[in-house]
Formats: sequence, C-alpha cells, structure tokens
Amino acid sequence: MIKAIKGFNDILPEQAAKWLRLEAVLANVLARYGYEHIRLPIVEQTDLFARAIGGATDIVEKEMYSFADKSEPPTPLTLRPEGTAGAVRAVIEHNLLRGDAPKLWYIGPMFRYERPQKGRYRQFHQLGVESFGSTLPDADAELIAMTYLMWQELGLKDEMRLQLNSLGEIDERHAYRDALVTYLTDKQEQLDEDSKRRLTTNPLRILDSKEASTQALLKDAPKLAEFLGDDSIAHFEQVKAYLDELGIHYEINPHLVRGLDYYNKTVFEWVTDKLGSQATVCAGGRYDGLIGQLKSMGSDKPAKSEPGVGFAMGLERLLLLIEAVAPFDEIVACDVFVAAHPDVYSAGVRFAQNLRYDRADLRIKMASATSLKAQMKKADKSGAALTVIIAQQELDEQTISIKNMQTGEQQTVDQKWLSNKENFAI
Ligand code: ATP
Ligand code: MG
Repeated sequence: MIKAIKGFNDILPEQAAKWLRLEAVLANVLARYGYEHIRLPIVEQTDLFARAIGGATDIVEKEMYSFADKSEPPTPLTLRPEGTAGAVRAVIEHNLLRGDAPKLWYIGPMFRYERPQKGRYRQFHQLGVESFGSTLPDADAELIAMTYLMWQELGLKDEMRLQLNSLGEIDERHAYRDALVTYLTDKQEQLDEDSKRRLTTNPLRILDSKEASTQALLKDAPKLAEFLGDDSIAHFEQVKAYLDELGIHYEINPHLVRGLDYYNKTVFEWVTDKLGSQATVCAGGRYDGLIGQLKSMGSDKPAKSEPGVGFAMGLERLLLLIEAVAPFDEIVACDVFVAAHPDVYSAGVRFAQNLRYDRADLRIKMASATSLKAQMKKADKSGAALTVIIAQQELDEQTISIKNMQTGEQQTVDQKWLSNKENFAI
C-alpha cells in the first residue's frame, strides 16, 4: 500500500474538528482587530524566498522543497516555507500599499525539509499576520496584544512567555556583526561545528546556538543592545511602554535573532515550557526593508520601501499545547439523529430536511434505510443527545417518538415539537 510521505500528516476527522474550532477562535480575534483575510498561492518562484528570507538562513540553505516546472526554459519553483515573502509579493504586485495600507492574515500549509519529530513536520500549518504602512511602535504592540487576546480566548495565557529583542537597523546590525566576528574569530576552535560555519555565513545566528559551550563563550561577547542607535532604542522603549500599559509581561532575550534575514528593530517570540524543545509557538517582528528589497529585484536601483510588521504561529504546536493544558470540550458531529422504519423512510427524509430548515443550529444526521434496529445502533454511536423515531404509527398519528439518549427515556410528541427551540436546545 502507498503511504503518506514522511513528515506529511493526515489530519483525521476527530483532530480536524479541533482545527476548525481553533481556526474559528483565531479568525474571530483577527476580525475584532479589523484584520482582513487574504489567500495566497502555495508555490512561488524560488528567487522570491532566496531573496526575502536570505541565502545564508537554514530555510534557504537546506529546508526548501524546490523543483523545476515543465515550462521552457523551466522556472525554478518552491513550495512556500513561510508566508511573509508571498504576502509582500502580493501587496506589491496588486498595489495594495497605495492609500490605507492593509492589515492582513492568512492561514495554510508551509513546507520545510526538516527532521520530523513532535511539533516539527515537513508540511505544517501557520496562521500569519502582516500589518503594513506604519513605522511606529504601536503597530508592533498591536500584534503582540492581539496574540495575547488569542491566548486568553484559548485558555493559554499562563502557558506562554513573551520574549522580546531589538535587532536595530541594518547598519547597526552590521557594526555589531563585525564586532562579534572579531571577538569570536580568536576563539573559533571552541565553537560547535554549525557556529563555526556561521561565523562566515550568518554570524548573528550563533547567538541562538543551543550548544552550552558556545553559549558560555558568548557571555563576554559584545552585546547587540550596545550597538543600537537612538531611533532604535526609542522605538524599543515605546513598544515596551505599550506592553506595560496593557499589562502584558515580557522578557528581554538579547540572543533572540530569528532565523530569517528580513527583520529589523522589534523581534518577538511566544514560547512555552510544555512542548520540549519545540518551544516557540508564535514568532515575528518588524521588516521595514523587505518591501523595498523585493521591489528592486531584477534592477540595480534601490526602490522605496514601506514598513511592515508581522508574525506567524505554528498551528500544530498550538494544538499540542491546547491538548496538554486546556483541551476543547468534547466535539460531537451530531445533535439529533433521525431513524425511520424502512417502509416509511421517505417520510423520515422529509422530516429531517424540514428540521434542518427550521433549526439551523442543530446538526441532524440520518443513517441509510436499513432496519430500524440497525439505525438505532448507529444513533447510539453518533453522540446525538436525541433520536427521533418515525414508523407507520407515528406517520398515521402525525407524531414523532423521541428518545433521550442520555436517560433512554422515550415519549411521543407532536411532529413540530423540535421546530420550537424552547422544547430542545443544545
Ligand atoms: P524553529 O526554531 O522551531 O525551527 P523557526 O524559527 O524556524 O522555528 P518560524 O520560521 O519563525 O520558525 O515559523 C513560525 C512558527 O512556525 C514557529 O514558531 C513554529 O511554531 C512553526 N514552525 C516552524 N517550522 C515548523 C515545522 N517544521 N513544523 C511545525 N511547526 C513549525
Ligand atoms: Mg526552523
């Protein structure tokens, strides 16, 4: 038998019901902040990601699913490993930045070639948010406040810790990078292999190395905060002031650098202690240079940028956390089961159809026209609170029999009894 590809998961009905519930909670919070939904392609040109995310990042170096299509010459394409690059491409392509810049959200699968383990898959799902048009710190704080409300709505507020850092502007970061490289070059023999390689490709990533020996070396290294300019410092202070105002606690993590090159100024992560080493549930930051960088692709002239700030949350990790600490109430697919004797089955179909019309709040299920006994067995398994039974006698008397599935109690009532919400609510 052919099986699913490693790291690509089926989401089976019991689990998928939880996905729908989670997505509804998140979409509701986004709507309350006035964010608009956008749907974007899953495949983009490889160059878009190489350019936006950065050539020396883990994603572009080793995690992308890239292929050539059948056009002549073939176009290099990639399954999206994240959503920001595509969202930025779309807003530039469709001129959405003119006038009132949009605040957008999207949801869907992302693809990275990683070693599958709990909370880490090759196809996984993100909810992403991008807020365009403001250089001001209130935009950063709004995104954080919105995620905080999501945690509150999901009962996860006490499980999440907010980590913050400022990466400053590009020139500040470059000055810091040079100082860090100078400091570490003498000591490179003591670095782990990955960090040694990063010393020439992406030195800032050394800061988030998980190796204890590397972290020990970094204790006396120059600090990024010492290289920030006045504007970066003021911006960061204001973000923190907004969070203080809102009562949202945060920890400053000077080693938080994020794995993507497009960030400047504020970066943040929501982390939990409940998911082992897959601890980051949601991560984001500001990217004021990305739009200009993508606009100028294929030309030597720099283009005017527009500010942006965004985040992405990993929905598999979020669901693992929900299951561990605040599981959803049991989700059943059926409230009312309609069972009809095979001789009068069409009357049962008509009854169920009318009831679905009268009671849009109920989930009403039938089984096929087998024996009443077989249908009652299915009713037992359906999770329904109530089963309606229709046989010749009910039809003649224009009644229905109803069975309370909890108590087993059965009675005969008027045909229209269920159409009245006061008689039966869930
Ligand atoms: P990590 O350090 O765990 O690899 P990342 O920095 O690569 O994460 P981002 O690119 O910031 O992750 O993606 C945002 C979020 O998407 C992560 O915080 C995580 O919740 C989720 N995520 C990223 N990669 C995966 C994956 N392979 N499987 C499941 N979820 C993922
Ligand atoms: Mg990663």
